[in-house]
Amino acid sequence: MVIRRLTQDCAQKIAAGEVIERPVSVVKELIENAIDAKSERIEVRVSDGGKSRVSVRDNGGGMDEQDLLLSVERHATSKIARAEDLAAVTTLGFRGEALASIAAVSHLRIVTRASDADAALCLTAQGGAVDAVEPAARAPGTTVDVRELFYNMPARASFLASVRTEYLRISRLIQTYALMHPTLSWTLQHDEKGVFDAPGVEGLLDRIAQVYGHDIARAMLPIEATRNEHRIIGFISHPELKRGNRRDQLFAVNGRAIADRGLSYVLASAYRGILRPGRFPIAVIQITVPPRDVDVNVHPRKEEVRFSDSRMLFDMLSAALQQALTSRRVVGTIPAIEDEETARQRSRYHPGQDVNSSQPTAIAETLSLDLQRQVRLANDEREAEKVRVRGDLRVIGQVHSMYLVVETPDGIDIVDQHIAHERVLYERLQNEFSTSTIVRQLFLLPVRVELPFEAASVLSAHLEDLRQLGIVIEEFGGGTFLYREYPRMLADAQARQGFQELTESLIETLTENAADAKADLADHLLAELACAAAIKAGDRIPLAEAQSLVEQWMTLDDPYHCPHGRPIVFSIPRDELDRRFQRK
Ligand code: ADP
Ligand code: MG
Repeated sequence: MVIRRLTQDCAQKIAAGEVIERPVSVVKELIENAIDAKSERIEVRVSDGGKSRVSVRDNGGGMDEQDLLLSVERHATSKIARAEDLAAVTTLGFRGEALASIAAVSHLRIVTRASDADAALCLTAQGGAVDAVEPAARAPGTTVDVRELFYNMPARASFLASVRTEYLRISRLIQTYALMHPTLSWTLQHDEKGVFDAPGVEGLLDRIAQVYGHDIARAMLPIEATRNEHRIIGFISHPELKRGNRRDQLFAVNGRAIADRGLSYVLASAYRGILRPGRFPIAVIQITVPPRDVDVNVHPRKEEVRFSDSRMLFDMLSAALQQALTSRRVVGTIPAIEDEETARQRSRYHPGQDVNSSQPTAIAETLSLDLQRQVRLANDEREAEKVRVRGDLRVIGQVHSMYLVVETPDGIDIVDQHIAHERVLYERLQNEFSTSTIVRQLFLLPVRVELPFEAASVLSAHLEDLRQLGIVIEEFGGGTFLYREYPRMLADAQARQGFQELTESLIETLTENAADAKADLADHLLAELACAAAIKAGDRIPLAEAQSLVEQWMTLDDPYHCPHGRPIVFSIPRDELDRRFQRK
């Protein structure tokens, strides 16, 4: 006889291991319970990255004595009664095993008061066994306090990452749930310090502003699609705004944050040809589907779901993304960044030579292809065009807060304001750098940035390289850095833009190009600095400033390409205008 029944204690620990992998799993289960209990306010406190303590306080429905005792039993739930109910789950929890699992591997304390009760109760449990239920005092709602996680599973405890990493997982989770539930108020404290505080707001965009800041919120594009009972809403970032990883792409299905390769793929596809490889958009996307059309019971920690008709959902999302990315605010960015190959393929299907024979609807398309042809022409003729002199260029205006329209002696130039400015700054920086004369400006108040652990170590290894470029950064410890000096020509503009995102892109550049020669690395970094300080697409600029930008731009060595190789200008020759209006 070799098969034995495991003791209940052992079986409980095994089951707990499935659900509770690390402190962040505890936080997830507890905040899901708070949301299910219809709380409006959820306060999360953690110590030592959650290893020594996780506590979640809510103002939801609470529990009476009977429920309180059942809540820590395995497979005891108020959310479903029969297996058939699984097809109609609208709550985040339903398996009735989270509190039991947490109880099995920690010291647990629950203080709760039902909304209609006049007193509160306190339950304590150790390693899965209930110690006591006693009267207590508190306002309606529930507080669950979890101490010394895995105290009785030393192997699991030793697998936990550093305090900082465990804490980052938790703060990321809170941000995700805060984004998915904007009407709820959220706070997070780590080691008694408040780190996140987001009072409930009406809309998702307000919450995005609380989590990512107002600048990012302003650069987000809304998406929306409805088909039958399926609905998708959310925000995606303007192509000018991007990240070096997928971490800020969030999907929720019926309020549950999930990871889904299919949905991520659809998102990536929508930005193909718009973002360079290795750049990722920010996205917060909420999907609502009838419960019967989604199986939420396919993953031990419910981090994945299965859709009954994923094809339909992908099509819906894809159409919504396309629509947002071609809306008025972004149109124009797309053809400019479109790669040569796609442009060539398109022109094969719409040979835009003969304007007179085109259908009216095709004219816009044809026009833009002609214009693309002109970009290449303009590039070929760059030598000839260099003879232009300052006084010959007149900026007529700015369109879509993105392009400058310039009258030239032989036609019209349309200039991408961001790329032109970036090019101006880049060439000047390069000049100063090559003659070792980058002029620095000292900040009276050093600017502080905070970085996650891995990023901090990359930055701290390159402080000397950055100093060569005129950037003096001091390491403060604990992932905090201070910018003390910065290249003077960029300092003001950069101070307006902020240093956090800049630092992140510098770290990406340092990581991606770590193997390059010093000079190449410096060049990449200079391009990043120029890009970060340049006027952005979407910025309104006064005419005089536009005029001076265009004049500076025309005197550059290479006025036609941004440091990343994108075109800066296309020209519509006078001849072309005359021909289109049949003056020739
Ligand atoms: P599940 O969420 O899958 O039902 P849990 O073990 O997470 O299982 O919780 C068990 C039960 O305890 C829940 O069904 C709910 O009735 C009750 N409960 C847990 N947390 C709370 C809370 N914060 N407020 C009110 N009731 C709660
Ligand atoms: Mg639960």
